[in-house]
Amino acid sequence: MKIRIDRARCTGNARCWAVAPELYPLDDEGYINSDGFDVPLGQEDLARRGARACPERVIEVTED
Ligand code: SF4
Repeated sequence: MKIRIDRARCTGNARCWAVAPELYPLDDEGYINSDGFDVPLGQEDLARRGARACPERVIEVTED
């Protein structure tokens, strides 16, 4: 499972981070600090919940 993040469209409201801070780190100004990642085994639900929490829909989940 992979996550892709369209950082340019992030508005910095930190909803993803509030759900899963280790998967969705923020920069010093509160914007997402990742272009995406391979989801570690066992953290799939957390990753999905973080993605769903983004009101801007900039976090895309690709299931294997
Ligand atoms: S929830 Fe979406 S808009 Fe908010 S910080 Fe995370 S990626 Fe950015």
